[in-house]
Formats: sequence, C-alpha cells, structure tokens
Amino acid sequence: MALYTTDLLILGSGPAGYTAAIYAVRAGVDVTIVSGNQEGGQLTMTSTIENFPGFEEISGFELMEKMKQQAIKLGAKFINDHIVEVDFAHRPFICSSENGHSYKAKAVIVATGSSAKWLNLPSEKKYLGYGVSACATCDGFFYRNRTVVVVGGGNSAVAEALYLATLAEKVILVHRRHKLRADKILQDRVFENRKITVEWDSVVEEILGAEEPKKVTGIRIRNVETDAVREISADGVFVAVGHQPNTDIFRGNLVLDSKGYIVTHENSSATDVEGVFAAGDVKDPKYKQAVISAGSGAIAAMDAINYLDTVA
Ligand code: NAP
Repeated sequence: MALYTTDLLILGSGPAGYTAAIYAVRAGVDVTIVSGNQEGGQLTMTSTIENFPGFEEISGFELMEKMKQQAIKLGAKFINDHIVEVDFAHRPFICSSENGHSYKAKAVIVATGSSAKWLNLPSEKKYLGYGVSACATCDGFFYRNRTVVVVGGGNSAVAEALYLATLAEKVILVHRRHKLRADKILQDRVFENRKITVEWDSVVEEILGAEEPKKVTGIRIRNVETDAVREISADGVFVAVGHQPNTDIFRGNLVLDSKGYIVTHENSSATDVEGVFAAGDVKDPKYKQAVISAGSGAIAAMDAINYLDTVA
C-alpha cells in the first residue's frame, strides 16, 4: 500500500486523459495518470480509426500506445491502477485504489470515459463469454467463417459489423428502427457488403444457446412493426447499443446529470468542486469522438494549470 503525492492527478487513460497529461507536463506541472481498469480506454477495442487527423488509418490500440508514450516521454508518471473511492470534500484531494494505494493531489482531472451498455436480458448474462460479447476486435477472431449477430444501429454497431465481415461468413445486423444512426460513409459500406444483412425494426428478445459445451446457437427477434417473432441461427452475438459514463464513484462527490454524465460549467471543464475538472466521454453525452475527447483533455489541462497557479 503506497501513498503517491502529485500536483495533478489524471484519472483515465483514453485520449482525454493522455492529452490532458501532455498539455500539463509541458506546462511544468507534476502529473500522475492512473490508468483505470482498461488501459487506453475504449479505443483500444476499435480495430481501425480513420478519422483521427494525422493518421489515415491506425488501430485504436496503436493510437493509444502512441499517446501514452508521448505523455511518459514528456514526463508524466503512469500507474496501472483503478480508483474505487474519492474524497473531494477535503484538500488535498484523496483517491483510493483497488490495490489499496492512495493518491493525494492538488487538482484532479476526471477522464474515466464510458462503458458499453447491454440489453439486460438474462440470456445475455448467461452466455457472456460463451458467444455473447461487446467487443468485436477482442472476440471476432473466434467467429472465422461462422455466423454472427450485431445488435444496434450506431457507429459502434456498424463498425463492429464491418470488422466482423472480414472474418465471419455472415453478419446479421439487428436494429430496432428502420434507419441506422451511424455515419453515412459507414452505412454505405454496410449496404455494399454482401456478407452483411440487416434485420430492420427488430429487437432481440432472447439469446438462444446450448449447454455442454455452453455456447450461443442463435437469437429470437421480434419485429416491432408486425409483432412477428422469429428465430435466427448464429454462433455469436455482439451487443453495441451505446455507452454509459463511468461515474459511479463520483456519485455524491460531483454533480451528475440524469444520465450520470459529469456536469461542468459552461465553456469550461470545471466541475462544481473547485480543483476537479472533467474531460472526454465522461462529460459528453453527445459527440463521443476520439478527437473531441483529446480536445476536451487539452481544455481540462489548461483549466487545471490555471487553477494550480492560483493555489501554488
Ligand atoms: P449510439 O450512437 O448511442 O447508438 C446506439 C445504438 O443502439 C442506436 O442505434 C440505438 O437505437 C441502439 N440501441 C440503444 N439501446 C438499445 C436497446 N436497448 N436495444 C436495441 N438497440 C438499442 O452509440 P454507439 O454506436 O456506441 O456510439 C457512441 C458514440 O461513439 C457516438 O457518438 C458515435 O458516433 C461514436 N463512435 C464513433 C465511431 C466512428 O468511427 N466515428 C465508432 C464508434 C463509435 P436508436 O438508433 O433507435 O436510438
């Protein structure tokens, strides 16, 4: 059990956290990044990124590794740990980790991002890890030449479907409406891909499976227009129905909105606690793009630098 003392503690290692670190260390601030339980954040689960300026095509893992190395090279300390409790009522702020370590800081940037949502079906829970997944990049490999289902109609679902189509024989995209929410360029790629079919206006009522070996065998879907129910055979189900902010530990410490996102002052990263700032998806219910998270991290760093100047 160690006690770490730093001027600026950054919680989270996605584009917001690393960019904040890069800006703050370059301003001469003593910075410690605590990674969170998924080093590199959600982008590490994205196979190909084509919309981060400067990189025509790069994997999410590689992009995050580059950001990490840049922050460390400039002087940021990086610790692989996960904060489970915060005390923002006293100064210096104290954050405690699952490994029993304590982090004392004059200022904190919360960049803990968001996590995938689930359908909340009992059968989804039952077959999680046995054919049900929320990460095509992690688990797609197991479905080479097989049939997979992707649930959702946003950029995540469409990106997962396109990635899976490079491995699987058949990809069935199940969307609850008749129009995808995803970017047009990605939609066009889906419609042009002969391996991908779309089940429109449909919701997954149950994930079907077998025991010994425990595995997914298909889904039961209901058409919300006609109420018709059908079973479709499949070997895997990838759920991509959006995200929720990782803010459980801040409940009671920071003001959150009705969906759990951290509320910040207008045109600022400042939260209701002076000296605590928020950046990236954890405060962004709308845009959620890597490049925007990076920009948001830069804003938080600049706000934190100004704050630290006033308390130095
Ligand atoms: P999203 O844009 O919120 O889309 C979620 C999708 O899941 C929607 O199509 C939604 O249907 C559907 N959905 C939600 N709850 C459902 C439920 N209970 N049952 C069935 N379907 C459900 O989330 P996302 O796709 O994860 O994207 C999140 C953010 O990351 C977005 O801002 C997105 O642009 C960004 N992103 C960008 C890229 C990129 O390459 N640019 C890649 C991935 C993600 P409705 O459409 O009916 O609401």
